[in-house]
Amino acid sequence: MTDIPHDADARRAVAPVICYPTDGLPVADMQFYAKVRETLTSVSRVTVPPRDAAAISVPAGQFLRIHSVEGSQVGDLNLFNANDLSERFYSGKTRALHGTHVTTGERLWSSFPSMRPMATITYDTLNWYGIDQYGGSVHDVIGTRCDPYTGRLLSGEDYHHCCHSNLTRALAAHSGLSLAEAEHHVHDVLNVFMCTGFTRDTGQYFMKASPVRPGDYIEIFAEIDLLAVLSACPGGDCSAEHSSDAAACYPLEMEVLRPADGTLDRWVPPTKNKYDLSHGA
Ligand SMILES: [Zn+2]
Repeated sequence: MTDIPHDADARRAVAPVICYPTDGLPVADMQFYAKVRETLTSVSRVTVPPRDAAAISVPAGQFLRIHSVEGSQVGDLNLFNANDLSERFYSGKTRALHGTHVTTGERLWSSFPSMRPMATITYDTLNWYGIDQYGGSVHDVIGTRCDPYTGRLLSGEDYHHCCHSNLTRALAAHSGLSLAEAEHHVHDVLNVFMCTGFTRDTGQYFMKASPVRPGDYIEIFAEIDLLAVLSACPGGDCSAEHSSDAAACYPLEMEVLRPADGTLDRWVPPTKNKYDLSHGA
């Protein structure tokens, strides 16, 4: 144990500042999105089977809804630029900008060097949940995704229906890539409907039964052409455990919706990040 300095309390008492104040970001015009979403018609729909994943394309200017159906179930979402898989959802930067959990009005940012809003969250029926007494909230960008490597380390057994493997199989099937190639594109997820936080005493990542119920959905607007790949986590509602067949699991559904012609006239798709890429060299 190290010596406690005489001014330890004073150092701890220093007030925090926000790392990335978001006032400088381009503002999401939520009144605009609200008007556009009044005109939506359904274009396509895919079911994500329990303990498995599915993929769907969402053209720029259309909306993706992820629906809870049949039972309380969380999903692990990967998002790609449909025309360039190297541009993908950047969970860590989204967390740095918007916090540990995301909801209506916040953006899902893409990886370097493009770093732009791939999607805007336009509706979330769990928006009421807020932050509970344990510090838990919904739709986290903290967790990575359940995977067979961590499972192997912790239990000594191989389990093949973790979200990482489900996403890998679904991306390979959709893109024609081999499993090995597809696996390299799978990335840290948006944990849709998952209720998580950090324990106050040990700072550990915790999960608890998701508040999602059939009929709930989260909706995003595709700012660029998107490929969405979603796994229905083997953890089910994540009230007890994942990385096994123990939990009750339910399907999820992904639905693509198109706004009426002319409603997007004011919308300007985000350009790639304007940094000059010289890195000071
Ligand atoms: Zn999972």
